[in-house]
Amino acid sequence: MDFKGKIRSIKDFPKEGINFRDITTVLKDKEAFRECILQMAEQLRNKNIDVIVGPEARGFLIGAPLAYELGVGFVPVRKPGKLPSDTISFEYELEYGTDKLEMHKDAITKGQRVAVIDDLLATGGTALSTCKMIEQLGGVVVSVGFFIELEDINGKGVLQDYDVFSIVKFQ
Ligand code: 5GP
Repeated sequence: MDFKGKIRSIKDFPKEGINFRDITTVLKDKEAFRECILQMAEQLRNKNIDVIVGPEARGFLIGAPLAYELGVGFVPVRKPGKLPSDTISFEYELEYGTDKLEMHKDAITKGQRVAVIDDLLATGGTALSTCKMIEQLGGVVVSVGFFIELEDINGKGVLQDYDVFSIVKFQ
């Protein structure tokens, strides 16, 4: 599957200098979407995953169908104030300022084997924060997977303690 030909690139979005990789062109293509989920599932099938955790919002679009394909549960990570029950949170540094993510306190039980899934790896800040919350709740991060990896930014370095995979790599 020529995923690179299906991912749309948009210059200067959401701000100047960023070449945004748009996955909506993959999601709307029935063969590409299915192949994306199946290729990601192949990376996880033998890993005894109990649950997939995906950050808002594009992590839901990949993580939920992947959980369904693997026959495991799905847990959402959200921006502050969106989850209705008791949460834990993790604050992380951005280029300018900070950002915060939240998870339900009872979303993961001790010893559960977790895969963190998002559409794209850039700096790794989103995925690392997600891993830290899972560990706070006693979960074991078995794998961290992305559909797309922006290799130049080296998010893999930030995630060096984890087993990281990606399907499509851009320089
Ligand atoms: P990071 O935390 O690794 O710097 O950024 C990754 C997060 O930002 C992911 O949740 C991803 O959805 C979003 N993101 C950053 N840049 C892009 C991009 O070019 N394309 C897409 N689809 N998402 C991006």
